[in-house]
Amino acid sequence: MKKIQMVDLKGQYNAIKDVVNNSINEVIENTAFINGPKVHEFQKQLETYLNVKHVIPCANGTDALQIAMMGLGLKPGDEVITADFTFAATVEVIALLNLTPVLVDVNTDDFNINIEAIKNAITPKTKAIVPVHLFGQCADMEAILELAKAHNLYVIEDNAQAIGANYRFKDATKAKAGTIGDVGATSFFPSKNLGCYGDGGAIFTNNDDLAHTIRGIVNHGMYKRYHHDVVGVNSRLDSIQAAVLSAKLPKLDAYNRARQNAARTYTTILKSVPQLVTPKISNGCEGGICDSCDCHVFHQYTLRVLGGQRDALVAHLQEQGIPCGVYYPIPLHKQKAYLDKRYNEADFPVTNTLVQEVIALPMHTELDNEQIEYITSTIIKFLNG
Ligand SMILES: *Cc1c(COP(=O)(O)O)cnc(C)c1O
Repeated sequence: MKKIQMVDLKGQYNAIKDVVNNSINEVIENTAFINGPKVHEFQKQLETYLNVKHVIPCANGTDALQIAMMGLGLKPGDEVITADFTFAATVEVIALLNLTPVLVDVNTDDFNINIEAIKNAITPKTKAIVPVHLFGQCADMEAILELAKAHNLYVIEDNAQAIGANYRFKDATKAKAGTIGDVGATSFFPSKNLGCYGDGGAIFTNNDDLAHTIRGIVNHGMYKRYHHDVVGVNSRLDSIQAAVLSAKLPKLDAYNRARQNAARTYTTILKSVPQLVTPKISNGCEGGICDSCDCHVFHQYTLRVLGGQRDALVAHLQEQGIPCGVYYPIPLHKQKAYLDKRYNEADFPVTNTLVQEVIALPMHTELDNEQIEYITSTIIKFLNG
């Protein structure tokens, strides 16, 4: 059996070595390291893939979120609602811009932001909602768009974990995750579903004016060379990273399919284990198994372990040479940097429970059935023991 890894970047690279190396070599030969033709080529490729009017590449996913908020002209004191159960980058940029983060609880079954909790958190100061498409599937965008419309709020999608996922509307039309709200942000961190070989990110929008504003912000607020109209940042996707992404984007659907296949095998084996709750697919496929619609692209395969056995299971898997992760171990509202007297513990029953129950199993494009057999049988033996 191949060594089990949480993410197998080397195995994936070996399979696409020639095309990636050629693409990188082109950049080095051209020496167009910043804003070279590869960046433009990748931008166009991604616009087509996502069916979105504008992709603005930038340096990383955290910048993408920050720049999206800057582009919308959010002002200090504006309240921005987001999920308590996510990676800190989402809330960090809200705080950095002196906006007021308002963290709310999530759903038990799909781990995404809870609609009732958003409703309860809206005040006259609320200006935006940031749904995070956690672990690879979209939040309830239809309900979020409705709330946003009723209260005149912006919707900024944190799509760092769900690139390539489809969102299915009630009328059966589909749109790619990240292209549904006013603006979407993604990350190309190496372990993400579309990862480069360093840092990278992008912002998506169908709004021409917003795209124009954002293109200036990523480049020091310049719309005309050496004319700085707004305060901007320096946030660029470098050409070598664009070369990697350009080579990998045509494989993204196949990569996501490989993740779905691994997830299906995990779920088939683990769904009858009484101490486990397998991931629910809430938009699209029935039965918790995504067959063909790409509504869940399994950035992570996250189980809930009931009965207080999560930490013991984590320790046991590590002893058996099986890596696993706990995303996320602490709710954001309990993190020192984001404490706020307005929060009431009674408003976070789900996050407070999930942090004690969740475990993410190895999930990547190279995972094979022999490895999954070993992982699942080790889990079952432990829980039966
Ligand atoms: C990875 C991630 C980010 C940040 O992306 P970076 O490229 O690492 O800055 C933001 N939000 C979520 C939900 C993420 O998973």
